[in-house]
Amino acid sequence: MKKKIELGEHQIECVFKKNKLSKGIKITLKNSHDFLVTYPWFISQKKAEKFFIKNKDWVLKNLEVLKSNDFSNLLGWGGRRDYLKNKERARDLVRERVAEINQTYNLTINKIAIRDQKTRWGSCSSKNNLNFNYRILFLPDDLVDYLIVHELCHLREMNHSRKFWELVALRIPNYRQKSKKLKNL
Ligand SMILES: [Zn+2]
Repeated sequence: MKKKIELGEHQIECVFKKNKLSKGIKITLKNSHDFLVTYPWFISQKKAEKFFIKNKDWVLKNLEVLKSNDFSNLLGWGGRRDYLKNKERARDLVRERVAEINQTYNLTINKIAIRDQKTRWGSCSSKNNLNFNYRILFLPDDLVDYLIVHELCHLREMNHSRKFWELVALRIPNYRQKSKKLKNL
């Protein structure tokens, strides 16, 4: 359901959508200046609206980022308290997307960690561990997937060689455009 939400002096166009599969409320930025809020079956729309308003700072920051089209601006935003509040939701999101994307790559993954890093979105280690910035939660879906594909492919190719990008392109043919928006990988 579409609804206008008032945040301070801003009127924000929001689509609220129940998602049977989701475990928590998720705010996604859409490219047309509005937001999608998905929420699980056991939560009311009213509650999802409250959640959206509670995350006002993030929403307004995201609007700013949308205008600049440079999501690296989101790094450094938030902090310890925000991290503790959102860590588990970020973990659920990453687990869900990794499971889906890894059907293409079939890689062995050891651990997935969610971190509060001010300078990078993700990293991986030779022990097949993946690390992601909890701020992944506030990226649009296409960039979430790009980030995860990028780190997954590093488990096979530990560099940015042509072979690496060929692997990335299996899932994300227009990876160049995504990488520009995100930077700092
Ligand atoms: Zn990389």
